[in-house]
Amino acid sequence: MANTTAELEALLMQRSLSDARLLAAAAEAADFRILPDATVIKIGGQSLIDRGRAAVYPLVDEIVSVRKDHKLLIGTGAGTRARHLYSIAAGLGLPAGVLSQLGASVADQNAAMLGQLLAKYGISAVDGAALSAVPLYLAEVNAVIFSGMPPYNLWMRPAPEGVIPPYRTDAGCFLVAEQFGCKAMIYVKDEDGLYTANPKTSKDAVFIPKISVDEMKARGLHDSILEFPVLDLLKSARHIREVQVVNGLVPGNLTRALAGEHVGTIITAN
Ligand code: ADP
Ligand code: MG
Repeated sequence: MANTTAELEALLMQRSLSDARLLAAAAEAADFRILPDATVIKIGGQSLIDRGRAAVYPLVDEIVSVRKDHKLLIGTGAGTRARHLYSIAAGLGLPAGVLSQLGASVADQNAAMLGQLLAKYGISAVDGAALSAVPLYLAEVNAVIFSGMPPYNLWMRPAPEGVIPPYRTDAGCFLVAEQFGCKAMIYVKDEDGLYTANPKTSKDAVFIPKISVDEMKARGLHDSILEFPVLDLLKSARHIREVQVVNGLVPGNLTRALAGEHVGTIITAN
């Protein structure tokens, strides 16, 4: 085991960057949390923003009130307009990288609209969550809005089959929370959480309050309420070891989840 910078450097100079001993040495330092007091919340595209005023106005009111006690990184989903674009672009034979750019433009639109609604409270939408101004916005007004699509764009790693980009806004928001070492990741959608089947189409679906990634996969639920690559990101995460999915159509749920209450489905890494 390397325990000095010099030893690590020697390994880095000599070995392949995926060498097992080098990887172990590079992982030895304790992980540093960049924004440990912030929580990432993802506002669903299809599930919330596309419902317009009835869903969005109450959520905006709740965000304005909770940000007095919590620091919020607010990511936006894409939703129905992105699905429409994907159908046209896929029909035209365009690749995943192009669909990724199209989807990102819709998440940008949603961030822009949310930004206008929150502007009078001093809450801004930023162009790219990794921009250096994010900590300043959090320090000044406790909240900032970002577009949830990860900026892989043309470099999106394609799925084994088809051209739909696998890493979309659920994944983009998760990665922001994990890279910044945030306190929590909350998905705000339109169902109480995870069920044994899609509650929109199966009326005998049973609610699942808590589940691990492995159990979700074993029960065939890996492609349900979250984009499936999020499960593997969660399983190997260093900071975000659980996420909660809550129903944002129920006033108060976001506030309670931010206070650490269990109001939806908690999905755990192990
Ligand atoms: P977002 O707008 O945040 O991207 P989605 O619409 O992609 O949200 O995902 C949430 C939807 O997932 C729910 O509205 C629900 O219809 C669907 N869904 C599919 N399977 C399940 C399941 N097993 N449990 C809960 N929701 C499910
Ligand atoms: Mg979705």
